Amino acid sequence: MRYIADLHIHSCFSRATSKASRLPGLAAWAAIKGIQVLGTGDFTHPGWVQHLTQYLVPAEPGFFKLATWNNDEIAAVIPEGLNPDDLPIGDIRFVLSSEISSIYKKDDKVRKIHNILYAPDFETVRRVNRTLAGIGNIESDGRPILGLDARNLLEILLEHGPDGFLVPAHIWTPWFSLFGSKSGFDVLEECFGDLSPEIFALETGLSSDPAMNRCISALDRYTLISNSDCHSPSKLGREANVFTTSFDFPSLQTALRSPVDRQGQQVFSATIEFYPEEGKYHCDGHRKCHACLEPHETIESKGLCPVCGRPVTVGVLHRVMELADRKSPQYPENSPAVHSLIPLPEILSELLGVGPGSKKVMRTYGRLINTFTSEFNLLLNAKLEDISDFGSPFLAEAIRRVRSGNVIRQPGYDGEFGVIRVFAEDELSRLSGQLNLFGETARPPKKKRKAQRVAAVKPRVKKKKLIAQVKKS
Ligand SMILES: [Zn+2]
Ligand SMILES: [Zn+2]
Repeated sequence: MRYIADLHIHSCFSRATSKASRLPGLAAWAAIKGIQVLGTGDFTHPGWVQHLTQYLVPAEPGFFKLATWNNDEIAAVIPEGLNPDDLPIGDIRFVLSSEISSIYKKDDKVRKIHNILYAPDFETVRRVNRTLAGIGNIESDGRPILGLDARNLLEILLEHGPDGFLVPAHIWTPWFSLFGSKSGFDVLEECFGDLSPEIFALETGLSSDPAMNRCISALDRYTLISNSDCHSPSKLGREANVFTTSFDFPSLQTALRSPVDRQGQQVFSATIEFYPEEGKYHCDGHRKCHACLEPHETIESKGLCPVCGRPVTVGVLHRVMELADRKSPQYPENSPAVHSLIPLPEILSELLGVGPGSKKVMRTYGRLINTFTSEFNLLLNAKLEDISDFGSPFLAEAIRRVRSGNVIRQPGYDGEFGVIRVFAEDELSRLSGQLNLFGETARPPKKKRKAQRVAAVKPRVKKKKLIAQVKKS
């Protein structure tokens, strides 16, 4: 069976998450996005475990489904015009997952690393939680911070649930990851020591993509996975994984260990990626100083911010280049395919000239989901002529460009998301007045919008000037 899985998310028990991140809302949005399998996230939190046991019942081995849900709760969190009864909520499956933030000293350096745990059953979850509760506080946050060596976390998981597995999370994020520039390691073995062979998959995170990771030969033996790490249900599937294998936890794990099975069948078929420039740590810089630097510019400025003179936050691209031993990516045989996409609300936001969370965008989004079944079906599979006929020719053109990678990229840096656009400025102003998407028309470019656009490009313009100043001095 072909299915899409988003295996790293957070519940309403994690900090800075939406109240809607409860199972019914998550399942509804998974259906809207076209995702069949979700990680539960946060299984270390007692409150969330209670919610999980209240709502979930076993389905296929290691997969769980909702036993009950309330349509009123769902209607309150999905876009206008969508009917909970039309969504295949009962078909959504959950796997037990949780993210741990390990902060500890190793080799005289403070390490801060996030790892995702996967468990096949609630018994494993209970045993792991009992041990972790003796090490630190697992009740204050759905993603607990523990003074626990990442290697020892892996040991605890394997001891209590040999069928579980651990995946290092968003491995390039500067502050909290395996290879992060601030508090990570240079090689995986330094982190996991004798248990390193137990690691078989790595999460690339929003700011890096497989092409960047495949410039490092030391990562050849690892499968690369992609997840949303979302804090609200509408952000599900920003990144995801496509499997073509049996619909159960053991088969999913086997596909992650080896993307091709013994018969030569591609069981882990593809990853769905953000454009890495959209990630909030792609380039280097300082958010507060509006200074965004490409890696070579950081090197030219000796790692210092051209505005405040303090060391910049070194982003993911720079860090990958530091550890890379290849100039261009080399993919291991049978690597999953890679689809780079822009979330549909962002495409609609650009077309309609209003924010991605606005009513106008959500209304249009709801109509498109009613027409094309799910967001991924529209973005990945729908025929362009159908999108043109049942949506709009402009939307069809936008999706054609997204599918072919023909997009305009303005990279993120130091916690500031990047911006990926489909149409150039002058194309957009020509578009206003012509676009009609289910009766919604593009907002004509007004003063306020212009100001936002100027603000959005400001860092890049300013940066060039600043670099020039730095070079002169
Ligand atoms: Zn994390
Ligand atoms: Zn600065």
